[in-house]
Amino acid sequence: MTHRERVRVRVPPASSGRPDTRAAEVAEARPDLRVRIVGTSVADTFSHRARHRVRSGLARLGVDIVDDGVTEVAGGSVRLRSGTALDSDLTLWAVVSGVPDLAARSGLSVDPDGRALVDACLRSVDDDRIFAVGDCAAVPGARFACALATPQAAHAADTLVRVADGRRPEPFAVRYVGRAVTLGRRSAVGQFTRRDDTLRRAGVSGRTAAAIKELASRGGKYAARTGTGA
Ligand SMILES: Cc1cc2nc3c(=O)[nH]c(=O)nc-3n(C[C@H](O)[C@H](O)[C@H](O)COP(=O)(O)OP(=O)(O)OC[C@H]3O[C@@H](n4cnc5c(N)ncnc54)[C@H](O)[C@@H]3O)c2cc1C
Repeated sequence: MTHRERVRVRVPPASSGRPDTRAAEVAEARPDLRVRIVGTSVADTFSHRARHRVRSGLARLGVDIVDDGVTEVAGGSVRLRSGTALDSDLTLWAVVSGVPDLAARSGLSVDPDGRALVDACLRSVDDDRIFAVGDCAAVPGARFACALATPQAAHAADTLVRVADGRRPEPFAVRYVGRAVTLGRRSAVGQFTRRDDTLRRAGVSGRTAAAIKELASRGGKYAARTGTGA
């Protein structure tokens, strides 16, 4: 009989990361492990059909989905809101727990989550020599996402150049394209969104979606390294 280790992955609240991706990667790479994903919002950033695809994709890889909240992780045990305690040899946390208090401590105006308040050009409302981009910035309409942090950083760099050249800075426009999650190396589920992040019906799945996601990830990495597109 094969020895089955157990790995538990905690899922964060909706829209704050892709723990389902991590669970799928572990399950695909190590089918000898028992992988369990725990959370109250597994795949709930998708519409019904796409959500079903994600959940059945995880199940196909052998990932157990536990729809429950986590209250404590201690001593090899994951305690759930329902009162159940799960044994765990290894627990992977995939949580966006907030932003550091650096902006607030520095005397900048922040929103209730501690994110620096910025104007339309991503400059602090208190001092236009200070830019705030990414998770630490309260950009209206923006959520925690590298897909938004990267264009914000590029826009801030452009603004610096414009200002240095004596030109007027331009406002940043939040523009969403879609949401996607990979299910191992060979499959993914993607759903297109409108500019304002509301879901469209259209989507893509399977190998095609995996190829698109891989291309997007590599493109993002290349752009970050080379400044391409900034
Ligand atoms: C588990 C997980 C999965 C995610 N998956 C996705 C995904 O699939 N798609 C997606 O779009 N987004 C995803 N995200 C969100 C994405 O990672 C963030 O939105 C993105 O990294 C934000 O970039 P950033 O540069 O603003 O912040 P970060 O990437 O967090 O960078 C901030 C940096 O500042 C440093 N820092 C903090 N305080 C100080 C200080 N006082 N002095 C100096 N340095 C400091 C930190 O160490 C860190 O290196 C995920 C997040 C998590 C946690």
